[in-house]
Amino acid sequence: MSDGVLAGYRTLVTGASSGIGQGTAIAFGRSGAKVAVNYRSDRDGAEEAVRAVEEAGGEAYAVEADVSDADAVTAMVEEVCERFGGIDVLVANAGMQKDAATLEMSVEDWRRVLDVNLTGQFLCAQAAARRMVAQGPGAGPARSAGSIITMSSVHDVIPWAGHVNYAASKGGVDMLMRTMAQELAPRGVRVNSISPGAIKTAINEEAWSTPEAEQELLQLIPYGRVGVVDDVAAAAVWLASDASDYVTGTVLYVDGGMTTYPSFREGG
Ligand code: NAD
Repeated sequence: MSDGVLAGYRTLVTGASSGIGQGTAIAFGRSGAKVAVNYRSDRDGAEEAVRAVEEAGGEAYAVEADVSDADAVTAMVEEVCERFGGIDVLVANAGMQKDAATLEMSVEDWRRVLDVNLTGQFLCAQAAARRMVAQGPGAGPARSAGSIITMSSVHDVIPWAGHVNYAASKGGVDMLMRTMAQELAPRGVRVNSISPGAIKTAINEEAWSTPEAEQELLQLIPYGRVGVVDDVAAAAVWLASDASDYVTGTVLYVDGGMTTYPSFREGG
């Protein structure tokens, strides 16, 4: 493992018991990182990621926390730092949808999605950044003091009818990321977003699980295929590593061209 691009990096991935988070945790482990695999309720999914990292010769453990709970997040980051001796990378990935038309949406569903997708990312990024600033640049295996990756979505720029809470949360993540990047660059902390397009995971299963649904989804993807978890995990490895050391305050769209608005090829 020692020759991986993340050799010795101390990392935390939230929402890592499934989907993009699980794939990213495994990719980090295979790149030589130590990985704390956060989960909220699915311990089996988290243990699956831990086993995959260990099978590749790496080190990982599962850590429970609801990212919208400030005390739980503080305790989680403290535990990670105690166990690994610090933290070099956070992937604030945990997220959820509770969909409804704007006219029908309950305030509970509005608040829960904002709590997890936006406040949850803030709490994790704040707790990790405090430790990274205290460590300082070059103290760990990375050149920076740390790299924070916020998992956003193409819906940080594409409005999404029927998902007003989700789109608002991801729009918020964009300014959370940019503002933290501006504020923390002088302290050596890098902050960037990955904004995936359509990636095959549980969160959007109804959009790709039948051939008809997948065909309809492909109308939105110029590159001609629905994305997979490894497409996003590879981008996360790069943003976590020194290969992207001069990159901060940026959104990396991993979307097969969805944000080129393909319906405008023959219109407008
Ligand atoms: P997923 O449902 O498999 O993963 C979401 C994870 O977040 C789950 O493991 C879930 O348990 C966890 N989670 C939810 N609430 C939590 C909480 N309060 N505390 C801790 N963990 C919590 O779906 P995914 O597609 O892997 O989603 C991961 C991220 O990627 C999300 O932020 C999502 O918005 C974003 N994203 C996904 C897609 C896609 O097409 N799949 C596209 C754009 C953005």
